[in-house]
Amino acid sequence: MTFNDDARLDSSKVRRGGRGGTGVAVGGGTLLVLFLVSQLLGVDLTGLAPATDPGAGSGEDSTVENCETGADANANVDCRMVGAYTSLDDYWAEAFPELGGQYASPGMYLESGTWQTGCGTASSAMGPFYCPPDQSIYVDTSFFEVLTGQLGADGGPLAEMYVVAHEWGHHLQNLGGIMDRIDRQDTGPTSDGVRLELQADCFAGAWAQNAQSTQDAEGTTLLEPFTEEQLASAMDAAATVGDDHIQSSQGGSVNPEQWTHGSSESRQKWFLQGYENGPGACDTFAAGADL
Ligand SMILES: [Zn+2]
Repeated sequence: MTFNDDARLDSSKVRRGGRGGTGVAVGGGTLLVLFLVSQLLGVDLTGLAPATDPGAGSGEDSTVENCETGADANANVDCRMVGAYTSLDDYWAEAFPELGGQYASPGMYLESGTWQTGCGTASSAMGPFYCPPDQSIYVDTSFFEVLTGQLGADGGPLAEMYVVAHEWGHHLQNLGGIMDRIDRQDTGPTSDGVRLELQADCFAGAWAQNAQSTQDAEGTTLLEPFTEEQLASAMDAAATVGDDHIQSSQGGSVNPEQWTHGSSESRQKWFLQGYENGPGACDTFAAGADL
């Protein structure tokens, strides 16, 4: 059990299959844009085939609008995404202005196969990502099977929500203008790109700490306090999407100069930094070489 059964979810801002289906020609320029976006803001899964057949059973008949309560979120992964949205939106609407930012809710789309975004045509092989021009998060929930399958994570509800919380962190960076100020082409363990990713992990950790007291509109706490095991599963997910782990999972050697997201150790460290010290302690750009 993760959500309080009686908590109310806000399903009005999450869409399933809202961004159109397959069959659209993909130009080279679009592919390049997608490559850059997936390198920077998502998890590059090009060497890992999604566990499910793209387009098969893709849930075009949406279940999202039937996600009403915490009990639904406990029972169903789509509703869990709605629950994550509700919790993240409630938390950051308060916390982001305290950091000096002007908050706006992101879009969130549950997709499968291939679909259109403001960043070009997207596919399941990209993993979950954030598209800055759309201010939207895109998730194919079959990624969670890749996470626990090919990538070997423990998985579980909090691990899934960590993934959404990380992409939400990119939305905050976009709102705050951080993305515009850095060199997003650079790679390597202390590159701006890696600092951007580790900051998103830190923001995810800050949400995780505070999510346990975030309430719905009627004052019911959305999430039950996390168990040690759940927290460990989120930490494990953060390590699993570390560049060194992904590089070795894809059969290659570990090459730090190509890192775009940071090592497993760094990703855990910054998630914990946010969890223990809050979002004000997430300035990875001021952290020097010790990430
Ligand atoms: Zn990211």
